[in-house]
Order: sequence, then structure tokens, then C-alpha cells
Amino acid sequence: MPVYHDCQRCTACCRWPGQVCLNDEEIARIAEFLQLKVGEFIQTHTRLRFDRQGLALQEQADGACVFLKDNLCVIQPVKPQQCRDFPNLWKYPGSEKYCRAIPREVSEDDYVRLTSEATLRTPEAVREIIRR
Ligand code: SF4
Ligand code: SF4
Repeated sequence: MPVYHDCQRCTACCRWPGQVCLNDEEIARIAEFLQLKVGEFIQTHTRLRFDRQGLALQEQADGACVFLKDNLCVIQPVKPQQCRDFPNLWKYPGSEKYCRAIPREVSEDDYVRLTSEATLRTPEAVREIIRR
């Protein structure tokens, strides 16, 4: 049975070391949401990825994502796909220790439906990812 993880919005994943990668579409969407020009958003909120092959969100001094304020994501409606996909479409070894998402066994159809709702991916896209 697939295991779906219900996010408890603890925001631990917004504080982990690492990087939130952005594609061009996400950059444009977040800039528009913040009412910034794309260039201005890139200058003020992004940095090069570790591999220098693209952009990622900046971090605050304590390592938390630049958009985490008072335990809330201030760009929630337009947050990057990487954020939406965790923890049901990707996770890394050891993340279970910090993530408070509640696991529950569900049917495959329910897993696809719930994950589609959480990630805003189409059910077909979710099925394609879990088949890989
Ligand atoms: S964009 Fe939002 S959800 Fe993603 S890491 Fe930053 S604060 Fe968390
Ligand atoms: S995915 Fe996990 S770590 Fe991130 S906010 Fe939800 S419960 Fe917390």
C-alpha cells in the first residue's frame, strides 16, 4: 500500500540546509506575486545554485529560506514545485527524523489524488513520477 504523508506545516523543511531550486517559470510567477520586476526579484531573493547551473532562493542568516517569516511561507500560493513535492514525491535520507508529516497507508488512487492536490501536479503527472 502506498504511504501518503500529511504535512503538519511545522516548517522544518524550510529551515534545512540545502537549496530551493527555481526554474524560469517559477521565477516569473514569484516575481509577479511580489509585484517585482523579474530582474529585481533575481537580484534581491536568489543566488546561484551550488553547481552554478541555475538559481535558488536565498537563505536568511540562520539558514532558513528567505521566504519563511513567523513560521509561514510568505509566497505560499506560488511556492516552488520543489517545496510542494516534499515529502510525497521526494525526500532525502534522514528527513523523516525532522519532518512531522503523518504517514498513513492509502490506496494507490487515493495516493495519486492526495498528492495531486498537495503538489498541484496533474494526477497523470503524479502517476508518471511514481512509476519512475
Ligand atoms: S518557498 Fe516557502 S515553502 Fe519553500 S522553503 Fe521557502 S518558506 Fe518554505
Ligand atoms: S513537509 Fe514535513 S517538515 Fe515540511 S512543513 Fe510539512 S511536516 Fe514540516
